[in-house]
Amino acid sequence: MSAPLAPATPTGRTPILLHACCGPCSLEPVKYLRLEGFEPTICWTNPNIQPREEHDRRLGVLLSWARDVAGVDVIVAGDDRDGWERSVAPAAFDRERRCRACYALRLSEACRVAREHGFEFVSTTLAVSPYQLFDTCHEVLLATARASGLTPVWRDFRPHYPESVEDSRALHMYRQNYCGCRFSAAEAAVERQEARDLRKAAHAAERAGDTVLAASIRARIVARG
Ligand code: SF4
Repeated sequence: MSAPLAPATPTGRTPILLHACCGPCSLEPVKYLRLEGFEPTICWTNPNIQPREEHDRRLGVLLSWARDVAGVDVIVAGDDRDGWERSVAPAAFDRERRCRACYALRLSEACRVAREHGFEFVSTTLAVSPYQLFDTCHEVLLATARASGLTPVWRDFRPHYPESVEDSRALHMYRQNYCGCRFSAAEAAVERQEARDLRKAAHAAERAGDTVLAASIRARIVARG
């Protein structure tokens, strides 16, 4: 038997279940989905975030913003950490395989919740960060939503990423510097160290008067983003 449809919202907008990875990444998707005529209910299910204290901190930030600023309902769903270790962790530093499995675990749970609560539409805030694997996440959302009989709403929110940085800073929201899992924390630490090394090398070249080398290092820094 199919679940009853989520009731129409008092705003007359169409209900949508929005999986959220964190508070800062939720700002623009909520804003732009509302402009499109949807009314998001956020679903929190992120057993990928390690350590536990970091998970709780990000959830706390999201809950405060949803309640005090955005007026969005939040469903705190499953936190299958054992499942994450079984299905995601074995991929370790194979980023494509690891993130695909991680998206699948979280979006499957979001789709289960969407069905349970009678939503027809499902989306995710993972489509805002340029650091996510956009096409992989798109494929996973399509597959999990369709397997659950739901309609995926996939939008490229990445052009709004700078706006989300600005807005979340203005709200004094905590902004994490790694995606969530222990592998991403290690990768981000390496990237930060490499960026520091490149900046030092550029300064050294400038001090030595080697403008060609300095310019080429600066170009590498820019290309890294
Ligand atoms: S980098 Fe992010 S999306 Fe990828 S496995 Fe780690 S927590 Fe999941």
